[in-house]
Amino acid sequence: SGPVPITVIGLGPMGRAMAATLMRAGHPVTVWNRTPSRADGLVAGGATLAPSPAAAVAAGELLILSLTDYQAMYDILGPVVEDPQQAGVLAGKVLVNLSSDTPDASREAAAWAARNGARFVTGGVMVPAPAVGTAGAYVFYSGPKKVFEEYEPVLRLIGQPRYLDEDPGLAQLFYQAHLDVFLTALSSLLHATALVTAAGVPAAEFLPDALTTLTDIPAMIGDGLELARQLEAGEHPGDLSTVLMMGATADHILRTSEKAGVEVELPKAIKSHYDRAVAAGQGTRNWTALYEVIRASG
Ligand code: NDP
Repeated sequence: SGPVPITVIGLGPMGRAMAATLMRAGHPVTVWNRTPSRADGLVAGGATLAPSPAAAVAAGELLILSLTDYQAMYDILGPVVEDPQQAGVLAGKVLVNLSSDTPDASREAAAWAARNGARFVTGGVMVPAPAVGTAGAYVFYSGPKKVFEEYEPVLRLIGQPRYLDEDPGLAQLFYQAHLDVFLTALSSLLHATALVTAAGVPAAEFLPDALTTLTDIPAMIGDGLELARQLEAGEHPGDLSTVLMMGATADHILRTSEKAGVEVELPKAIKSHYDRAVAAGQGTRNWTALYEVIRASG
């Protein structure tokens, strides 16, 4: 078993980083992108630019997709599988879709791939593009375990693989859950910066400490296992801080935002968690009691 011929479809920053990493490891890499110029650097480094999606599919044993969403996969591969002259082009191929979407979209895509004779693994890359192929990189996968294991040595080049389950939706769910934390934190950083700069304070006087506020959270929470245990047990001891105390602060943040003329949707959403927890009788318990209202909100 020599190097696996790989096709990478989708050459945004992530697809380009993966293609470059796989090439460096000695795999023949074919690429295709809707905007062909994004392949220029890879082609200069030895990748083959396929002239069409059909040619891209034909060239690879393993097809890696790195697109904005799953619709992009159908936009690219739909016409190929519907073309009678390309009949069976996906048969026997292994598709690894590392694009973001909902868990249901991943499940539907796995069924679509199966109808076209392909095997399908879903995944979510958990690091920014420049970190692909480095020691800290890791990637969630789900789908058929046998297929994952067969290609694990190749997938390992992108980052530490964390195989989850046969359910093709699960890697996507983990990806979305991590991005839920990530995107919310990023928006909160920008919102807080806007609050400070609205008062005429330069962002540079605020942001270094704001990052410390973020990185202090693990020390407060621990390694996550104790929090997990408390959430599952419904244990929310309010001896160090309470929903009422933190909810008052959430209200102050909202009013300060209103006064400053900055966006209020984010502080309103946070305040509503506290308001509902208080209304549910959780006021004297720890902030973790918000979990009870958040998970019940649908
Ligand atoms: P980009 O938005 O830069 O690239 C998206 C790719 O999808 C491009 O190749 C684009 O083609 C293609 N595309 C989008 N819609 C269509 C369509 N309808 N038909 C054909 N092609 C389409 O994204 P990234 O490379 O940054 O990210 C790719 C995936 O990786 C995303 O799902 C993202 O969530 C995930 N990811 C990205 C990270 C990052 O650091 N960038 C980190 C972790 C995960 P074109 O070039 O022609 O526009």
